[in-house]
Amino acid sequence: QIYLYQNEFVAKEALHISPEDRGYYFGDGLYEVIRVYNGKLYEAGPHFARLTRTAEALRIPLPFTEDELSAQLEKLIQVNELHEGSVYMQITRGAAPRSHPFPASAEPILMAYTTSYQRPVATLEEGITAVTTDDIRWLRCDLKTLNLLPNVMAKQHAMDQGAGDVIFHRSGTVTESSSSNVMIVKNNVIKTHPANNLILHGITRLVVLRLAKQEGIQLEEAAFTVDELLNADEVFITSTTAEVTPVIQIDGKAIGSGKPGPLTRQLQTAFEATIPSK
Ligand code: PLP
Repeated sequence: QIYLYQNEFVAKEALHISPEDRGYYFGDGLYEVIRVYNGKLYEAGPHFARLTRTAEALRIPLPFTEDELSAQLEKLIQVNELHEGSVYMQITRGAAPRSHPFPASAEPILMAYTTSYQRPVATLEEGITAVTTDDIRWLRCDLKTLNLLPNVMAKQHAMDQGAGDVIFHRSGTVTESSSSNVMIVKNNVIKTHPANNLILHGITRLVVLRLAKQEGIQLEEAAFTVDELLNADEVFITSTTAEVTPVIQIDGKAIGSGKPGPLTRQLQTAFEATIPSK
């Protein structure tokens, strides 16, 4: 397994990250996960745009241009002979003695690697269950930062309940899931939380909204309540790894018929058609 570290390709065993890395101390950094289908980066442009936006907001200067990063990630895919899976990359503010203010001089640290896996066919077909939980995160959920402790705690809460994932709400308003966006269907209209500071602006969310438009499905980027969620005809989550995954039961209550619904299926089919075959 070869990693990209700064501008070099190195074996995992040869990679040494400083214990003073601010990612380790403070979660002071950002990350991206880009899907790889048939050896190609999927929707790379929007992922790089989100990476740049997060870096600017965190005031972490990126040590490369988007084109340079894209070329390096493509090389990483090649050296690891990755066909299906994803690229994970993270950038931290760099290493410096522990102190909260930005260090006067620290070099941002880039690390990236590939993971090989197949599309999650079983959950795409059958769907998952979920439990609702309080969204206790900060007010910049639109930034893809390394600070994922609330997401980690929430996901473990779902596991402890025997559920597939959580659905977050703030005082009864549904935001998103622990690592995906949430959409509901009621009377043939899709609803999903607006892309503001309370959710991550998912790239898959964007793809699905585009596909819904193409398919002539009505959609509203509008907040909805836990009550609307539980009484929806269909619920699904979207993410780079989950694609369009049906949610068939929430808090023990069956959603709609308790099986993946027709619009979810339609969007899954439309999504599949966007996957490059060669
Ligand atoms: N919401 C959160 C909190 C996430 O962590 C993610 C992805 O990891 C998403 C939504 C989905 O984003 P994307 O479709 O870009 O993978």
